[in-house]
Amino acid sequence: MEKVLAINSGSSSLKFKLFVMPAEEVIAAGKIERIGIKDSRVEIKYGLGQKYEKVEDIKDHKVAVDLLMKLLIKLEIIRDYMEINGVGHRVVAGGEYFKHSEIVDDEVIRKIEEIQDLAPLHNPANLIGIKAFKEILPYVCSVVVFDTAFHQTMPEENYIYSVPYEWYEKLGIRRYGAHGTSHRYVANEAQKLLNQPLKDLKLISCHLGAGASICAIKNGKSFNTSMGFTPLAGLTMATRSGDVDASAIAYAMDHLGISSIDEMLEILNKQSGLLGISGVSSDMRDVSQAARAGNHRAALAGQIFERTVVDYIGQYIAEMGGVDGIIFTAGIGENSVSLRAHIVEKLAYLGIELDAGENSKRGINNIISTPNSNVTVMRIMTDEEVMIARDVVALEASQAD
Ligand code: ADP
Repeated sequence: MEKVLAINSGSSSLKFKLFVMPAEEVIAAGKIERIGIKDSRVEIKYGLGQKYEKVEDIKDHKVAVDLLMKLLIKLEIIRDYMEINGVGHRVVAGGEYFKHSEIVDDEVIRKIEEIQDLAPLHNPANLIGIKAFKEILPYVCSVVVFDTAFHQTMPEENYIYSVPYEWYEKLGIRRYGAHGTSHRYVANEAQKLLNQPLKDLKLISCHLGAGASICAIKNGKSFNTSMGFTPLAGLTMATRSGDVDASAIAYAMDHLGISSIDEMLEILNKQSGLLGISGVSSDMRDVSQAARAGNHRAALAGQIFERTVVDYIGQYIAEMGGVDGIIFTAGIGENSVSLRAHIVEKLAYLGIELDAGENSKRGINNIISTPNSNVTVMRIMTDEEVMIARDVVALEASQAD
């Protein structure tokens, strides 16, 4: 039995889950927010519904990690630091260097630093977390788990853009995708529901949260995915535009007097998607409520979101030459009964049939299509953190071999 921390560190935040492995039991979870900003907030849930909360100034990630470790002892979640056997860190972009998770060493850190321009908002923050834990727990096995790594199996024809090929050769511009840890986790759960090994399956995983992406998974490997060079591409998202004709962007910049591309990217990342279309909210629950109350733009935002999901499902069925299972996961995919129903309705021409009773169940992983359906549709709750903890245990074991 060992204890493993799964860490997701952002520029001003640090989220964690502490697992007992291999049981995969979560014994504590929480977050530290507003690091480096006044009035930082610490929240830890543990034990049988206990909760620790405090507001205090935390000047940087090293202080945050130090505080977290001391709190784990003070709250009697662990007795001493030696109980932590491994720490796994989520890293957003792994470029072409990282095809799977890796144990952190100087070379791994150097490579993550080298490619930080691929995710300028995320990778530097992820690195700060990695270094802070290395200082405070220097002897503990430290592992990096990349959002992009799962997609490194995509064939060339699915990741090269139709632009001058030198852009790829000189700058590494290509489709990298994201949400790989989630797609990998739900595919693994799907094989249990389908009772068939991943190597025999063609799956389409729909990770529909605030950020949303779809992945075609052929024989257990990512075959194609909707996000691109960055997570801005693909589906309509909470505030991200998804795919847009580049000429429309140039035209809007000209006519709206937007002179900097950074300002335009801010609009495409933060003011577009469900929020941009509806003008109501970036949150699907608010958008759906406004649509029910008769707001046309809110209804339109929902319809466009669903249409983009159906577009990619159709594309990936064609590219894989069929599909055995379609998975819905993440905030919207797991919780919106009506969204799943609408999408399956649009796929009825393929002989896909929804089981309304199963579709309305909550809080479980289940098959939501009828036994007669040509394709099995599933609702699966994603768990990126447990995947991180599993990778830590697997890499630790390989190191010991
Ligand atoms: P992320 O992890 O990308 O921040 P989540 O996976 O938590 O996002 O998903 C957030 C989205 O899930 C929000 O748009 C929220 O409205 C949506 N969501 C949560 N519950 C429901 C629900 N019952 N019906 C529709 N959408 C929901």
